[in-house]
Amino acid sequence: MKTLQELTRPNIWKLKPYSSARDEYKGVTASVFLDANENPYNLPHNRYPDPMQWELKTELSKIKKVAPEHIFLGNGSDEAIDLVFRAFCEPGVDNVVAIDPTYGMYQVCADVNNVEYRKVLLDEHFQFSADKLLAAADERTKLIFLCSPNNPTGNDLLRSEIEKLLREFEGLVILDEAYSDFSESSSFLLDLDKYPNLVVFQTFSKAWGCAAIRLGMAFASTEIIGILSKIKYPYNVNQLTQKQAIEMLHKYYEIERWVKRLKEEREDLEKRFSELPLTVEVFPSDANFFLVRVTDAVKIYNYLVGEGIIVRNRNSISLCGNCLRVTVGTRMENDKLIEALQGFII
Ligand SMILES: *Cc1c(COP(=O)(O)O)cnc(C)c1O
Repeated sequence: MKTLQELTRPNIWKLKPYSSARDEYKGVTASVFLDANENPYNLPHNRYPDPMQWELKTELSKIKKVAPEHIFLGNGSDEAIDLVFRAFCEPGVDNVVAIDPTYGMYQVCADVNNVEYRKVLLDEHFQFSADKLLAAADERTKLIFLCSPNNPTGNDLLRSEIEKLLREFEGLVILDEAYSDFSESSSFLLDLDKYPNLVVFQTFSKAWGCAAIRLGMAFASTEIIGILSKIKYPYNVNQLTQKQAIEMLHKYYEIERWVKRLKEEREDLEKRFSELPLTVEVFPSDANFFLVRVTDAVKIYNYLVGEGIIVRNRNSISLCGNCLRVTVGTRMENDKLIEALQGFII
């Protein structure tokens, strides 16, 4: 790995961050706060939230078994995705490499930041080759994006290839684990110490059932977390979100129940899909959704819209011709979907 200074944009490396009132006084003994121009009325919404979200990070660290200093929290994973571009990629100069197909936000953030985005096609089993990604990289490649389980294909990426990439790539490997709660493979969180160039993204939006509160997590070395923290908006995670997230962390057992249930529903729904005449191929999934190749994705998508059922048409995505991406819902929602599809005339 290159040094973190070599990987970081020079202006960001030198940047002195904005210091908020809540940064400058961190004690807990004061009772009169006249430092932040807040309104003294309308408790508890009148106060600025903790800019570093320490209480939330401390609770999270117990569940994730990662020290708070290794955690960055943002306004969804989308914030973390954008921040790694702004921290490490010089616009018009540096580039990133990513698997294809994958989550669309990596490319959108690359385009917004004017950073070249190099795509490397997955194979017919939706797996990647570390060698191919490395061959697409050059001196100016700062980041490689992986997503496991991958969106929209639903499968885990091979652990041995991820490890090879972590060992051999000179820049940072961004591993998006938005769906890892639904997978039987273990998270790379426990390997953070082994790989200083690893950045793991997770989110409250999927297994945690909290897409509405917008909370994303990045886990990495204290040095990388320090850089992301210094360029974020000072109060990037609002108080309502921090409070709701802490409540969710106290209900961890509930999330485990949801995940178990959704995995059972996934197996069931995939089986029922494979028996439909319109199905060409159901791809195995390690997530809370799956990809299915059908006889005519556009027609079937539009038919389902007419029935009031929305799935995702992935027909125009690489390797996903005539594919629909189906999120696993409740038993009742899944039944409605299958019933509707049984009424579709090929
Ligand atoms: C849904 C999803 C996310 C979550 O994004 P948030 O901004 O945290 O809601 C991240 N990565 C992938 C691959 C996803 O599919």
